[in-house]
Amino acid sequence: MSKEKIFVTRSSMPSYEEYIEAIKPLWETHRLTNMGIYHKQLEAELKEYLAVPGLSLMVNGHMALELAIQSFDFPEESEIITTPFTFISTTHAIVRNRLQPVFCDVKEEDGTIDESLIEELITPKTVAILPVHVYGHLCNVKAIKDIADKYNLRVIYDAAHAFGEKIDGIGIGNYGDASIFSFHATKVFNTIEGGAVVCKDEKMYTKLKDLKNFGIRGEELVASIGANSKMNEFCAIMGLLNIKTFDEAVIDRKRAYKRYQDRLRGNRRITFYESKENVKSNYGYLPIRLDSMGLRDEIYEHLKSNNIFTRKYFYPLTADQVCFKNKYKESKLPVARELSKRSLVLPLYERLKDEDIDRICELIIRKCEQ
Ligand SMILES: *Cc1c(COP(=O)(O)O)cnc(C)c1O
Repeated sequence: MSKEKIFVTRSSMPSYEEYIEAIKPLWETHRLTNMGIYHKQLEAELKEYLAVPGLSLMVNGHMALELAIQSFDFPEESEIITTPFTFISTTHAIVRNRLQPVFCDVKEEDGTIDESLIEELITPKTVAILPVHVYGHLCNVKAIKDIADKYNLRVIYDAAHAFGEKIDGIGIGNYGDASIFSFHATKVFNTIEGGAVVCKDEKMYTKLKDLKNFGIRGEELVASIGANSKMNEFCAIMGLLNIKTFDEAVIDRKRAYKRYQDRLRGNRRITFYESKENVKSNYGYLPIRLDSMGLRDEIYEHLKSNNIFTRKYFYPLTADQVCFKNKYKESKLPVARELSKRSLVLPLYERLKDEDIDRICELIIRKCEQ
């Protein structure tokens, strides 16, 4: 058994020397936060990289989502149609804004919201749709836009998993009224902790600038009830270095992804998600589906006992967590529940060794054969 632990992900980092060199100027200026020069520079670079009209950096992805929702000023208790097959942050951001989540089932083929079920969940209280590009699988953005237009709803995408992805050559941040990204240490692109809201509306951008700094607009003017959601300069510098190597990191993740596929694909108890021709993927996650929950849990335990730590993303569903269960409208979620029972996310990161991938696959295959 290998002594070294393998986790589901490992943060991309510049070299120690490079980071130390890059943060040196902070000891001259003593300007560590409050939207300093590195914050501005990273905002500009990410806006260009993602090819989006506007971008507001945030302290993390969760606050990006909370503030993006807040900026629409929806009436209290309004309903937002969303997916339960996601990280808990998505649902928390809705509820912490005093809005009601209405859970919509997902599609087996990619785990994203099932657009054919959205319309029947719309009521006079519905104000928005909040889908998630889960595992970096892109939602059916065109169908969702058509529904939103028909019923005059806003669309806010949780794109925490979709940094740098494109559909038909268009950056994913260009869809919907707003999208949020997470730059948490465990995500494909990281600023240690961080996130961003991307939007088209110039006014929303100004609102977000207020909201992330207590609503302060001038020395003697507080325009709104904001939070503190500013990214500090150490994090911004980490982002400026990581963005330089992001494309290379994706290429290396693709190498690892393909190796897993080559080794596991023929196994009849394992299903991979199909990649789509018109989508540029970031290879952020490697989710597989097993043919039963029992097998999923056995593989999880077996790998764990070999110092390999996978994740049961997303089990249980957010709708089934104690903090939300039985509090909101009951929706039927058969596909989401089934996916959550049979999904396992395998280790995938930059420079994950071929020999480690082979060993992980052998352990999985052995369990499948038992
Ligand atoms: C990571 C994540 C978030 C929250 O982002 P943080 O930067 O960790 O606050 C929100 N939604 C999803 C789907 C995520 O995976």
